[in-house]
Amino acid sequence: EVTLDQLAAWLRRFAEIVEQNKAYLTDLDSAIGDADHGANMARGTAAVVTHLDEANTVDALLKKAGMTLVSTVGGTSGPLYGTLLMKMGMATGAVTELSGEEFSKAFHAGLEGLIARGKTELGDKTMVDALTPAIEAFDAALADGADVHAATESAAKAAAAGRDATTPLVARKGRASYLGERSAGHMDPGATSSTYLFDALAEAIG
Ligand code: ADP
Ligand code: MG
Ligand code: MG
Repeated sequence: EVTLDQLAAWLRRFAEIVEQNKAYLTDLDSAIGDADHGANMARGTAAVVTHLDEANTVDALLKKAGMTLVSTVGGTSGPLYGTLLMKMGMATGAVTELSGEEFSKAFHAGLEGLIARGKTELGDKTMVDALTPAIEAFDAALADGADVHAATESAAKAAAAGRDATTPLVARKGRASYLGERSAGHMDPGATSSTYLFDALAEAIG
């Protein structure tokens, strides 16, 4: 199971990792974007943390976090991460814990929402390239009989592999796509922050 407290700890840890890597995310975005991904994510996730104590149910926690990201991040990434979390919240309910399967269902709903909003697909050199293999690895681990913690560790590894695989790709979405072929050879900033989402999850779910 994943408890409400663990989900709050997850988003708190995500904010910490983003803050610690803010300069790095901005460096990545300076190569193929407008050098604000670190600032965007740090501002958004810090705002999310200020609301974590308000929610008494899983759906409320995730929806509030998502709405906060949408309203505090000016960049493309805010509405997309915001959609991920809002749709995750909408796929859960007024409960205080989720089974691994329910958590997976929420992740799928969130990813589908993000993909629809971003009008993107796997291989476009975006955050989707880290999120998709992570969620697939989470499912595969659960299907193999792993507990939720072990499944999150598999997911984090798969996210990192997906992030690394963005480096040679030519971007087809977002600011990086304006560079065309010159976007190849650089790791995608959003795929990098998405990896932190799963690193934070593996740390928060013991
Ligand atoms: P902006 O590009 O508006 O400055 P950020 O720098 O915060 O926003 O975020 C850039 C990241 O957003 C990219 O690295 C990429 O992963 C992600 N991204 C951009 N466009 C899309 C899209 N259409 N769908 C999914 N992710 C996207
Ligand atoms: Mg940017
Ligand atoms: Mg920007």
